[in-house]
Amino acid sequence: MKKQSKWIKQDLKYNWHPYTQMKECEKLPPILIESAQGIKLFDENGKFYYDTISSWWCNVHGHNHPIIKAAIKKQLDTLEHVLFAGFTHKGAIQLAEQLVSITPKSLTRVFFSDNGSTAVETALKMSFQYWQNTGNKEKIKFVALDSAYHGDTVGTMSISGVDLYNEVFSPLFLRSFMVPTPNCYRCPAGQNRKSCKIDCLKQLETLLKHKNREIAALILEPLVLGAGGMIVYPKEYLAKAAKLAKKYNVHLILDEVATGFGRTGKMFAAEHANVQPDFMCVSKGITAGYLPMGATLTTEKIYKAFYADVEKRKTFYHGHTYTANPLACAAALASLEVFKKEKTLSRAQKLIPFFHQELEKFKNLSIVGDVRALGMIGALELTKDKISKEIYKEGLKQNLLLRPLGKVIYFFLPLCIKKEEIKLVLDRTYNLIHAYDH
Ligand SMILES: *Cc1c(COP(=O)(O)O)cnc(C)c1O
Repeated sequence: MKKQSKWIKQDLKYNWHPYTQMKECEKLPPILIESAQGIKLFDENGKFYYDTISSWWCNVHGHNHPIIKAAIKKQLDTLEHVLFAGFTHKGAIQLAEQLVSITPKSLTRVFFSDNGSTAVETALKMSFQYWQNTGNKEKIKFVALDSAYHGDTVGTMSISGVDLYNEVFSPLFLRSFMVPTPNCYRCPAGQNRKSCKIDCLKQLETLLKHKNREIAALILEPLVLGAGGMIVYPKEYLAKAAKLAKKYNVHLILDEVATGFGRTGKMFAAEHANVQPDFMCVSKGITAGYLPMGATLTTEKIYKAFYADVEKRKTFYHGHTYTANPLACAAALASLEVFKKEKTLSRAQKLIPFFHQELEKFKNLSIVGDVRALGMIGALELTKDKISKEIYKEGLKQNLLLRPLGKVIYFFLPLCIKKEEIKLVLDRTYNLIHAYDH
């Protein structure tokens, strides 16, 4: 084993890392990153890693981008933070206006917070209170997909799939309904995508039909279930689910925390199916991965159900200290400017077919059971357990950050990636997996 640097010793003495069994850290200590540029992370010894998962799905235009950096520095010279109740600031006004203009047209109001879980939690509470405010006292439950992931706070865990990670907390959960995830790789009807009629929607339809009086909202990650294993599902499912929600008077919450800001090849995944949700939650990519921020967008109809004299007790009493932080707003505005200046979306759209074509090659490997992709997201589901961790360790030796989700090795590429970088990253990953393919 390599000698641990003084920094790592101190890290292991004082820090408690997320999703980490700290005992394992003694064998596989964290890597100390000192700087980053574009899609590369540099460690304390000068070794670099391709940031193939965008530093947990948030980086968009690359690290150390001059425009975003300059915007944050400029903001720092005038105002770093101010409370957002009773006060406001120009960045939050401009950003809210821009978010309304780039999201589906049903959405006209922005409620800021500071991470993905709080953006979802806000939508749950708003939906719940909307029904309370409008005299529908029984509408108190939520519907989610059984492989969904919507965050790690108690409310958002309650509407996420119960797995290894959150099973221990299940006694604390809100009451909710889970319906089967549309998962073409494991289609229970053995259907083929080209001929199927989205039969997997049946259970959702039955539930909404019989229980809609108890249901406040249906929440979906549009088209890609991220932490559930990068499960890509047909846009027809999303479009039909949205119609059912409307038909049965249930809100539709789209959790675009991972899919938002270009990752699927469109600004928001909802656009692929032309869906008009009642709520949209964004976070990760909103500041291009530079500062924490969350936002929940909603419709004028929902906003109006809270708009009343104070004595009517319809106010939304919810908020977070760092709501609409000015530095985060400056980063988010700069990111939207980069989208325009660098034509980020159309540039990415030209590369996506190449990326998908390169991914197809993994189908030759017998150890790869499924290959799925949408936009700059690509996933390889392995047929065997336990190798993904080995692949992660081997990947690090070869400059790749391939942090797996169970049996799934995936790419969540920053939109700024170049064609040659896609080729290099995928070729190296292919050779890595090939070594385990007997
Ligand atoms: C990451 C994620 C969240 C939670 O965001 P945090 O900022 O980690 O709290 C919620 N929903 C989805 C779809 C996510 O991918």
